[in-house]
Amino acid sequence: MIAHCDFHIHSALSPCSDDDMSPGLIVGLAKLAGLDFIAITDHQSCGNCAAAMAIAQAYEGPVVVPGMEIESSEEIHLLCLFPDLQAAKEMEALVQQAMLPLKNRPEIFGEQLLFNEEDEATGCEWRLLMQACQLSCDEIARQVLARGGVCIPAHLDREANSMLQTLGAVPPDFPTDWIELSQRADLDQFFRNHPDLVRYHVLIDSDAHHLVQIDEPGWPIDVQPWSDPAEARLQVLSALRPQFRQ
Ligand SMILES: [Zn+2]
Ligand SMILES: [Zn+2]
Repeated sequence: MIAHCDFHIHSALSPCSDDDMSPGLIVGLAKLAGLDFIAITDHQSCGNCAAAMAIAQAYEGPVVVPGMEIESSEEIHLLCLFPDLQAAKEMEALVQQAMLPLKNRPEIFGEQLLFNEEDEATGCEWRLLMQACQLSCDEIARQVLARGGVCIPAHLDREANSMLQTLGAVPPDFPTDWIELSQRADLDQFFRNHPDLVRYHVLIDSDAHHLVQIDEPGWPIDVQPWSDPAEARLQVLSALRPQFRQ
């Protein structure tokens, strides 16, 4: 069946996103928009994924896939999605061990708010999340795939933090069949400029930092039917997993 997906949404835990991006409001707006799947993908942290998953299940909202937008040592942004919270938390621990212990300065970077399953702000992440980690993109992909997840180069059409800008290409041995482009990308123009990338499947996500950006019906992905959210997460990740290279 065709599922409508937005796999790149920042909650208020990302310093660059609005403080009203609570898990509950994100899930509620995604449900109104008719999305079947969303992923919460904060920078270097999955700290609000548990709350979003619980709220979505309680209110029969979209299936929430735990995720992170990981910034590699090359300053490349990678959209990382996981089958369950434990896999996401293991990856978060690896990433955060590979970060400098810099404190966030909310007056400069913005708040990094954590929420509970009642959608109440419970505190702030002290560690500055707007920084690269010391893991290469190859190592990140290896670790994510080993945990049953997928690792997709994010917003390739953008100048900042894109694998295409930083490395000049998506290396053929990078283990993904999918690439992400942003909503404003001109697909025809993009593939005219990068004909070598036509062999990849395209994912278009909102990369929402503001509630008003969660208003699109989502990107269609062919997913096997599911009976519960845990199975749904496995089905959608199996649709996104690289088929020929691992
Ligand atoms: Zn990014
Ligand atoms: Zn992002």
